[in-house]
Amino acid sequence: MAQYDYDLFTIGAGSGGVRASRMSASYGAKVAVAEERYLGGTCVNVGCIPKKLLVYASHFSTDFQDAAGFGWSVGERHVDWAKLIANKNKEISRLNDVYRKLMQDSGVTIIEDHAEIADPHTIVVDGKRITAKYILVAVGSWPLVPEIPGSEHAITSNEAFYLPSLPRKVIIVGGGFIGAEFAGIFHGLGTEVVQLYRGPLFLRGFDDDCRETLAAEMRKKGIDLRFNTDIERIEKAGGILRATLTEGTTLDTEQVFYATGREPNTRSLGLEKAGVRMRENGAVVVDDYLKTSVDNIYSIGDCTDRLMLTPVAIAEGRAVAETLFNNNPMKPNYMNVPSTVFSTPNVGTVGLTEAEARARYKNIDVYKTSFRPLKHTLTGRDERTMMKIVVDHETDKVLGCHMVGPDAGEIIQGLAVAMNCGATKAQFDSTIGIHPTAAEEFVTMRTKAARQT
Ligand SMILES: Cc1cc2nc3c(=O)[nH]c(=O)nc-3n(C[C@H](O)[C@H](O)[C@H](O)COP(=O)(O)OP(=O)(O)OC[C@H]3O[C@@H](n4cnc5c(N)ncnc54)[C@H](O)[C@@H]3O)c2cc1C
Repeated sequence: MAQYDYDLFTIGAGSGGVRASRMSASYGAKVAVAEERYLGGTCVNVGCIPKKLLVYASHFSTDFQDAAGFGWSVGERHVDWAKLIANKNKEISRLNDVYRKLMQDSGVTIIEDHAEIADPHTIVVDGKRITAKYILVAVGSWPLVPEIPGSEHAITSNEAFYLPSLPRKVIIVGGGFIGAEFAGIFHGLGTEVVQLYRGPLFLRGFDDDCRETLAAEMRKKGIDLRFNTDIERIEKAGGILRATLTEGTTLDTEQVFYATGREPNTRSLGLEKAGVRMRENGAVVVDDYLKTSVDNIYSIGDCTDRLMLTPVAIAEGRAVAETLFNNNPMKPNYMNVPSTVFSTPNVGTVGLTEAEARARYKNIDVYKTSFRPLKHTLTGRDERTMMKIVVDHETDKVLGCHMVGPDAGEIIQGLAVAMNCGATKAQFDSTIGIHPTAAEEFVTMRTKAARQT
């Protein structure tokens, strides 16, 4: 008789948990996954996918305007928010079914309920005790709303995807990628947007040129970006919210949207009882192989609070399956993880920022260009694209590539492959471009912008 009910019990059927469960089952493990909310997790339901669909929706307003420069006349425009959300919801429920089928076809048992850990080999679901040789904690993260008077009136990205109507005005609080993306979404759909960030410039951690270029482009579009400020309290009067800012001024708005970070979803999970070490904010501490302080408990994805990105959670899920069930101990490769802010315009980035490179390398070369995209020669739109390459002067190795402009994510992905292969600037230069594209600028940048000696 088997010693445990399952070889692997995964808590959370999000990006990481689904990948780990399916792959483990494909290697012959008996696997169950518990999911308390929605199959596919944050990315599919209230993250990357619905967000990108709303980004597409928001771009039509400028596309309609730009069409005139190409001879098109477009009639009266109107966005039907209810229809947009209904169509988005339909696609998400299709994806939920896809995830269910993928797991069922791999032989994974799906338990749609809240799970808690009772001891290192026991999970409790709806009062029933289930045992497993290994437990995988893949519970993701949850939006963090600061406790200020009136914060109960605010929404987060979770609610923004399901608003009954498009707000006429929204205040977005927070300077991370989610705040910048939703500022573009709401503005593109016709909402008046104010975005607040308590620091001097948003998108901390991104290259400074990207941060400054995006701020300038968003302001040109009419987004009211305000830095070094925050909300002190929110009061509700009638249907209106009044936000009092730290400097004492007030702003009236229909919605206040907090995008002020996310915290690991590890409360009421029983991790302490099992002896799993966590950081103060609830992040599960793991080693290079994603193993926690308890030998048979592993953890991946957002709840470890490192790189909160879907492809990272997926890569970690794969590594756990390889390590535990394919006799192939695997550490995920975190080198040159590319990412995109789907703001308007996009920010795409991979590798070191100029500031990081200056701190780590003796001499660096920086190549930079800024230009008006070809499309806007006819539209007349005042929008610029910025691209930048950071190079180690000694070895000529490319250390970072950064871009603000349309399709930045699509362009940067390929450069991440080149960088993981150790590409040098000379190899970028010897690569023939695709003309006419914006991407070709990455292989034709010849003028050094700055050099540190
Ligand atoms: C608005 C937004 C936009 C984003 N956009 C991008 C993007 O463009 N690109 C990108 O790479 N990343 C993006 N992300 C981040 C991405 O969604 C996450 O990094 C990714 O989903 C993390 O996967 P995960 O498996 O760690 O957790 P999740 O996908 O969050 O899955 C965790 C699952 O565990 C379940 N769960 C939690 N506790 C329990 C319990 N006790 N019992 C049972 N089930 C439980 C939850 O319900 C959830 O379904 C975005 C996130 C947000 C919020």
